[in-house]
Amino acid sequence: MPGRLYVVSTPIGNLEDITYRAVRFLKEADWIACEDTRTTRRLLDHYGIATRTISYHDHNETERAGELIERLEQGESGALVSDAGTPLLSDPGYRIVHAAAAAGIRVEALPGPSALLAALVVSGLPTDQFHFGGFLPSKQGQRRRVLESLADEGATLIFYEAPHRVTESLEDIAAVLGDRPIVAARELTKMYEEVLRGTAAEIGAALSARDSIRGEFVILIGKSLAPAANEVPIEDMIEALIGAGVERMEAMKTVARERGLSKREVYKLMSGPAGPKVKSPGSPTVSRGGSK
Ligand code: SAM
Repeated sequence: MPGRLYVVSTPIGNLEDITYRAVRFLKEADWIACEDTRTTRRLLDHYGIATRTISYHDHNETERAGELIERLEQGESGALVSDAGTPLLSDPGYRIVHAAAAAGIRVEALPGPSALLAALVVSGLPTDQFHFGGFLPSKQGQRRRVLESLADEGATLIFYEAPHRVTESLEDIAAVLGDRPIVAARELTKMYEEVLRGTAAEIGAALSARDSIRGEFVILIGKSLAPAANEVPIEDMIEALIGAGVERMEAMKTVARERGLSKREVYKLMSGPAGPKVKSPGSPTVSRGGSK
């Protein structure tokens, strides 16, 4: 009878963020497939887990997945972890899970931390719909194209970002998406955890003013800000376009784009009495963590 593959979430910083069940399964598994055996060994040592580790990373994923599937077919049970958080989320693991599912091997998740969800729930941005975009491309042209393609998404956008690229990405977010509410969540669950809130330009300026930008970031982008008091009301903009001969749906789409709103939000606004109420973030606010 084939064994099982367990996809195990591990801490994103604070070693206490692991479930009892994860610790027990990591102890009981025949092996633990992990990105960097030294990183995972630190976690395992912390919990007195002696299970053997097998390296499974971006560069050996395809061949290693085949070997591990054979082991599972022979009845071994294995755990898959990544360096931090939940495997497969901007981390290796897709190939082995896909292959295991295709081979009829049971795959079970042992859920736990993930930077994207931790960042989303502290962001203060809408959580009803969100789009996780992984890492933004490192090249500016591609990065801007990705942002443009998401401009009409009626959801909070979430990206992982490296510290050396965070200010460039914020510049592009400002250029492509304008003054939307942005949250930069840094070093979550760690000693220097902080959550910066403001526009992309404000947060970029605050980070650029530091001697160095360190740590791991999640960038979240909210839907557009409400129009300022001196801006023309959305309804008036639409009526003006219609008056100029633009078809109604097209007028709503144009205004949605100009105001950085989703088409759905504008349609809703035009079909109901209550308009969207989104507070301007003003200057960036920072909340910091304390002892962890
Ligand atoms: N699989 C992981 C997860 O579930 O969160 C993410 C792995 S991805 C290779 C690493 C990226 O996640 C980092 O570059 C950063 O953007 C984000 N990240 C990981 N830990 C973080 C933390 N403690 N605080 C903020 N962002 C974090």
